[in-house]
Amino acid sequence: AQALQDLYDSKASHVHPALGRITEGIMTKGDGTYVEYADGRRMLDFTCGIGVTNLGHAHPKISGAAAKQCMNLVHSQCSIALHEPYLRLIEGLLPIMPDPSLDTFFFWNSGSEAVEAAIKMARVVTGKQNIICMGGAYHGRTYGAMAVTKSKTVYSEGAGPLMPGVFSISFPYWHQLGVPRDTPVEDLTSACLTQLDLLLKQQTAPSDTAALIIEPVLGEGGYVPAPPAFLQGLREVCTKHNILLIIDEVQSGMGRTGDYWAIKESGVKPDILLTAKGLGNGFPISGVITRGEIAGKMKKGTMGGTYAGNAVSCAAAVEVVKRFKEDGVLENVRAREKELFAALEKLKADAEVGKWIEDVRGRGLMVGVEFTQATGVAGEKVPKDLAKRVAQRCVDKGMLILTTSVFEVIRFIPPLNVSKEDLKKGCAIFEEAVSEVVK
Ligand code: PMP
Repeated sequence: AQALQDLYDSKASHVHPALGRITEGIMTKGDGTYVEYADGRRMLDFTCGIGVTNLGHAHPKISGAAAKQCMNLVHSQCSIALHEPYLRLIEGLLPIMPDPSLDTFFFWNSGSEAVEAAIKMARVVTGKQNIICMGGAYHGRTYGAMAVTKSKTVYSEGAGPLMPGVFSISFPYWHQLGVPRDTPVEDLTSACLTQLDLLLKQQTAPSDTAALIIEPVLGEGGYVPAPPAFLQGLREVCTKHNILLIIDEVQSGMGRTGDYWAIKESGVKPDILLTAKGLGNGFPISGVITRGEIAGKMKKGTMGGTYAGNAVSCAAAVEVVKRFKEDGVLENVRAREKELFAALEKLKADAEVGKWIEDVRGRGLMVGVEFTQATGVAGEKVPKDLAKRVAQRCVDKGMLILTTSVFEVIRFIPPLNVSKEDLKKGCAIFEEAVSEVVK
């Protein structure tokens, strides 16, 4: 342990300072819902490495499948030859697509790369240029993805000019529209659809607009599910004007919301669906999935990447899909969802601490708790930075948990196979942390 501490002390200062971190020290082991640090800390992990290790850390079967693939074929470069795990992954994913017309797959390494590929595909296929995105959206850190990211200026500050041709409308979230907290969801929805209508009349003509990209549950923007009627409205407009609808399920997909895909609740059919994070349970892989007729409009050789569709990552993802089918993961998400909401709603209803909680929201095990902003409650001294301070208090008490957005939001992203006991334990730590911070 001392050797690792010495390593940390002497080398951590050489890590590029642009990489932010929420904990100090070296993480040495991951084991299901827990992680360990070199100094002996064992922490309950309700971050899943930001929605990635969704079936738990170092899942024996997933790591085993990857290890086996490692000893056979690590890398083929898919433009030299396809490998078996690539095709097995397609075989596993086809039956769980939100719409059977989504039948054509391109695997990449990261969510950002998938976003880049989707933008490129939309432009090439439609012969149009402009992209519409949502206020509060997060799609990644590469240049195209950064251009359609609107959740925090820190991601692009000083880095411009960004990719041109990007327009945005508000996401139906009261903060994004600057309306009162209790505005009915129908009003939020119609205000945002009106913005889209005006945008297409005033700023980017439908004949110039290639695609609209949206997360069905706003992730880095505050864990806000899009109302189904909003998604349906977007679908209608996109269909009418031949604008491709890109559904970014990098964070919300692969079972996170209690279904394989969050978009299913709305019945909306994506033109392009993006997946990453939980797909590989920690092995880097993402997917851009579309209809054959859309993909078929691209010329051979126009997309590719050295590691895209890596054999080890694909083998891990094949096992992930298998675990969903064999281990009742979605059923667990739905059962734990009820317990998590019950615990958080109880806290919100609490006479003492409840007044600091504005909202409890989400789907499945993608759940946000929003605290009041500094001006939230008239006549009372409101503790500042509630979300950050509660998250830090949780860390001090042995649970990793993250904030999200520029608002006061904490997000729960426990493993999808979290046990009843561990969820209860996490809720108890959170409750204690909230009480200590607000009192
Ligand atoms: N889209 C969404 C919805 C995301 O949440 C993220 C990552 N937080 C990305 C894209 C980017 O993925 P990556 O970090 O793998 O590039």
